[in-house]
Amino acid sequence: MNERDTPGTLFIVTAPSGVGKTTLVRGLLERSPDLRLSVSHTTRAPREGEENGREYHFIDAAAFQRLCAAGEFLEWAEVHGNYYGTSRAWLEEQTRDGHDVILEIDWRGARQVRLVFPGAVGIFVLPPSFGELERRLRGRGTDSEETIARRLAAARGEMSHVGEFAYVIINDRLPAAIDDMAAIVRATRLRYASQHKRHSRYFSSFAQD
Ligand code: 5GP
Repeated sequence: MNERDTPGTLFIVTAPSGVGKTTLVRGLLERSPDLRLSVSHTTRAPREGEENGREYHFIDAAAFQRLCAAGEFLEWAEVHGNYYGTSRAWLEEQTRDGHDVILEIDWRGARQVRLVFPGAVGIFVLPPSFGELERRLRGRGTDSEETIARRLAAARGEMSHVGEFAYVIINDRLPAAIDDMAAIVRATRLRYASQHKRHSRYFSSFAQD
């Protein structure tokens, strides 16, 4: 079996920062514990409350370069001055074993993953409006005008790639957005190709020559 024909599905979730993507994915995982979250490697410092191995594998730039040179990353990108990479071996093992995996990566990573896994399902999360995103980013109250302007420009750039994703969720109310995401996962699992892969014995039990 090659990577193009794996029983597990990859769900790629992309959103500009401040949209609540991580909270959304956490809510989905609580509801669907059989989904597995890919934990990326990053060179950025852990934020308060983050744990090594849970949100990210936190490594230094030299270790990142080594893993990169060894071909350990399915994709990697520089985002806001830090490096982020998706573990190739872990992902291949999970999907080969039939597990559905969630990737929280940026649009460039999404593009690279789709080249290797064309069956990956892309989900883009939008804020209720651009004005609301600005309000949320300002609401933190700790950032300078310059930082806010940079984040908004980055968000606009990221949002311009929404058309590359099969599904779009507008995160207005969190419970509704989690419902939307669960609906995408559920519908994907009910597609003929997924059902056929998961229940191949059943399908062959009534197959005719
Ligand atoms: P944060 O540092 O806020 O957790 O993430 C910053 C950005 O990096 C987010 O857009 C997130 O989706 C993206 N990101 C996290 N992990 C990866 C990864 O492994 N690959 C890529 N391409 N982007 C990632």
